[in-house]
Amino acid sequence: MSQLLISSRRVLAQCLAACVLLLALTTPAAAVDASEFDPDRALAHAEYLAAVIGDRPAGTLGEQEAAGWLAGQFAALGYAVRIQPFPLRRGGNEIIGMNVIATRAGLPDYGVLYAGAHYDTVERLSDLPYGGPGANDNAAGVGVLLEAARLYASAPFTPTLTLIAFGGEENGLAGSRYFVNHLPPDGRFLAQAMVNFDCVGIGDALHLYAVRDADRALAESLPVTPDRIDYLTHGSSDHASFSDGGIPSVMFNMHSPDGACGPDYHRPTDTADKLERPAVARVGAAAVSALNFLSEGASPRAATLLYLPLIHGVANP
Ligand SMILES: [Zn+2]
Repeated sequence: MSQLLISSRRVLAQCLAACVLLLALTTPAAAVDASEFDPDRALAHAEYLAAVIGDRPAGTLGEQEAAGWLAGQFAALGYAVRIQPFPLRRGGNEIIGMNVIATRAGLPDYGVLYAGAHYDTVERLSDLPYGGPGANDNAAGVGVLLEAARLYASAPFTPTLTLIAFGGEENGLAGSRYFVNHLPPDGRFLAQAMVNFDCVGIGDALHLYAVRDADRALAESLPVTPDRIDYLTHGSSDHASFSDGGIPSVMFNMHSPDGACGPDYHRPTDTADKLERPAVARVGAAAVSALNFLSEGASPRAATLLYLPLIHGVANP
């Protein structure tokens, strides 16, 4: 056997090893087993928000305390965290709300996947049974988001994962609208999808909500088995801000016979003791299936959308 042939084979073997390593590094991997979602952890987070911190209207001390606690939870899991203040008007006054944004970097050019839940509540009205601690609306959704954050903190995940606890949802989706309107160009162009959790703690029917056709296509593609996909063309929660910004989005909701947010919607009686473990367990498992699917389906093609206009601009000045 010639020396040339031996060295050729050695080069070939080294190339193959490099290819295998490259594939291992770039092939999207399944991330989390849905059975790992712990509804008790999600419920404990919801209980802390609703029963310990309590009411959290935008611009109040309750919101500030919740934002600080949420930032600490995400940071302890290893996420890069920032608080994004935003202005909103309430009762003729300009106040400041806060989004809490947690990010885990993925593979370069594999896009950004957004998941979110609002943590604010409606303000109480003294003479009416209105406002309260918002356990189902939406401490439960934030609990699901935090439990997902725990599971995906170190699991294989292809795109960049950005988790947002939104403020000001109850004030015309103010927090999510500000977030989407202030995305940097790459954050918008590389966005793959957004999933939103709102009113997920009561009821036994899983509903997915879509705003536009692209959202409905996203909802239909997910490997979850909803009882129903609702098509609501006006904005009902933060996913609508992403849909309006051209980012496909879907809301997960547990529907009860009393409606999308249960019998205590926006009332002082929306308390943590009413939350139902099976509801949180079902939406949590569905959330993991959806996030796995979106991670595995991520591809670097989104980067092409960003770079093509530049290439086109160079070729056709
Ligand atoms: Zn809500």
